[in-house]
Amino acid sequence: MRFCPNCGAAVVKRVPPGDSLPRYVCDSCGDIHYQNPKLVVGTVPEWDGRLLLCRRAIEPRYGYWTLPAGFMENDETTAQAALRETLEETGAQVEVAAPFSMISVPHVNQVHLFYRARLLDLEFRSGAESLEVALFEEARVPWREIAFRTVGLTLRHWFADRRNGAFGFHTGDVAAR
Ligand SMILES: [Zn+2]
Repeated sequence: MRFCPNCGAAVVKRVPPGDSLPRYVCDSCGDIHYQNPKLVVGTVPEWDGRLLLCRRAIEPRYGYWTLPAGFMENDETTAQAALRETLEETGAQVEVAAPFSMISVPHVNQVHLFYRARLLDLEFRSGAESLEVALFEEARVPWREIAFRTVGLTLRHWFADRRNGAFGFHTGDVAAR
């Protein structure tokens, strides 16, 4: 950040009084512009033991497979974000169930949150951000072509929980490689 989003003056980076980290501070209007992690929210959409994955039509990771997910918007709940992203990317109507995984990705300042979800029908199609959308049983998941480690971890937890007959809530972190 170079200029204050509030008044347009140049900002400086320094530790404000009583704080412990450097922030973008505007000496013109006095605003302190805090930067905090973003929440990426999605679903693990199931139909009869198979999961709905999307092949990305956008960078990063163009052509790789992922679960439907995206940045949460202001003025929506996490469950609403999960539902919206799933509809946008796959055209699928889902019933959003319990939160399933929450994984911190500190090197990119993100937290990824996935809900379990049930497809209401088989009316799915590629959205603008997907090359294709398809259902996969565990043995057919393209494990080497999964876009993000948080998605790979979430898929592995899901199939393991299904085999064990009980779905939990899984937390974790991924670090920079
Ligand atoms: Zn300002």
